[in-house]
Amino acid sequence: MKDGVTTVAYLVAGVLFIRSLGSLSKQETARRGSAYGAFGMAVAVAITAAAWASRGMDEWETAGALVAALAVGGTFGAYLARRVEMTSMPELVAILHSFVGLAAVLVGFASYLAPSTAAVDEAGAERSVHLVEVAIGIAVGALTFTGSIVAWAKLRGTLSGKPLLLGARHLLNGGAACGLLLLCAPVVLAQGTAGAPYLVGIAIIAGLLGIHLVLAIGGADMPVVVSLLNSYSGWAAAASGFVLANDLLIVTGALVGSSGAILSIIMCRAMNRSILSVVFGGFGTGDAKEAGPAPAGDVHELALEGVATLLCDAKKVIVVPGYGMAVARAQASVFLLTQALRKRGCEVHFAIHPVAGRLPGHMNVLLAEAGVPYNLVLEMDEINRDFVKTDAVLVIGANDIVNPGALDDASSAIYGMPVLEVWKAKTVVVLKRGMAAGYAGVENPLFYLGNTRMLFGDAKKSIDGLVAAVASR
Ligand code: NDP
Repeated sequence: MKDGVTTVAYLVAGVLFIRSLGSLSKQETARRGSAYGAFGMAVAVAITAAAWASRGMDEWETAGALVAALAVGGTFGAYLARRVEMTSMPELVAILHSFVGLAAVLVGFASYLAPSTAAVDEAGAERSVHLVEVAIGIAVGALTFTGSIVAWAKLRGTLSGKPLLLGARHLLNGGAACGLLLLCAPVVLAQGTAGAPYLVGIAIIAGLLGIHLVLAIGGADMPVVVSLLNSYSGWAAAASGFVLANDLLIVTGALVGSSGAILSIIMCRAMNRSILSVVFGGFGTGDAKEAGPAPAGDVHELALEGVATLLCDAKKVIVVPGYGMAVARAQASVFLLTQALRKRGCEVHFAIHPVAGRLPGHMNVLLAEAGVPYNLVLEMDEINRDFVKTDAVLVIGANDIVNPGALDDASSAIYGMPVLEVWKAKTVVVLKRGMAAGYAGVENPLFYLGNTRMLFGDAKKSIDGLVAAVASR
């Protein structure tokens, strides 16, 4: 294949990826963004396969390896995408990041041990630069691999969300970083493939560092970890691009790496955290604090008919969806309730917290899937001042994002995180199954306030009941 054709195709794929990221930043254009991304990836895979097949290697062997790789990867990807529940998306994303990290480690070792597969026939400075690229690719890849596996286990509840805060953790992290730098020297200086044991050492240290960094992060900071690992997986791919001298992989990896880093900074701002404190595992956050006293007061339960009356009398209602709405798959029913209330002349809006659910944008995706018009959906900053003028707030399976302790309880693990100030409304109705804590594991004083009413039960069943009750009035 001519180099010019490959370059143009890579350029087209790169532009499609950039358009994809641009479109994904707005709900209205997100579907188009996914299509651009999928098309760009199809162009990238096709041209890379064609370029590889035309290298003059044994053609049948090459074609066989390509078809096998595409068939295994494609079938596995399609199977996972079809089977995954919306509530398990964060775990899927985390495990996919781990695959990118593992791929970067394997590419690094393959390039080092079988130099004919990569551009390492240089000598002197160029060889040294290439070996540094290999070492960086293996280090970032191993850190991404193990960190993503720990994040996957934390997100699915296999590992506790509590942070592991070892006394000497910053010393350990610093020591590991120094060890990684020191091991680069023998890799560059060793003749032939004699530096392989040092690369194994780099992989082990970076892998342990990935485990330790993510274990040290508490449940409340997990949203940032998910986007940070997304960013790391991009840098791991970019490092592989340098190792393989593949421009498209470098560009794509850099796009993923930088967009993940920007998202991490946005999430940190939304949670009032410093990015450095999250990256270095609980540096100066409230994660280490002891739990404060249990909230005082009585819990006021309200039956379904009572909640229906409250809603029918309300002129202005705000719905706050949280992770429990995703678990209950109540989004379509919630939209039906919204329509029923709007028909009665009630003004209804949705309030979205940046870390609601288990994935950035989780609630926006669910509401879009249910057909909720975008103009009814407002972000926290846009809607927080409206709660004082609201008759009723429906908190549907949300907990941490409406916890007043985040603002006034310095002992809370989520202290400092801006929340939806629902308690300022005339009445707050909380729909959940029991009194369980949210993801961060902290008690919620909201449930004990005088203007809060609890409607216990599965959110979908409760909302279906409310739809029927409101329709019959
Ligand atoms: P939370 O996890 O804080 O609370 C969800 C609540 O839903 C629970 O208290 C649970 O209570 C209730 N619930 C569960 N199932 C049902 C059901 N079937 N019907 C009704 N209620 C149900 O969710 P939030 O959305 O408020 O907050 C998100 C949390 O997740 C934050 O701490 C955030 O930091 C974290 N996180 C967010 C990520 C992101 O990217 N958005 C990623 C990783 C973590 P009960 O069992 O009593 O019903």
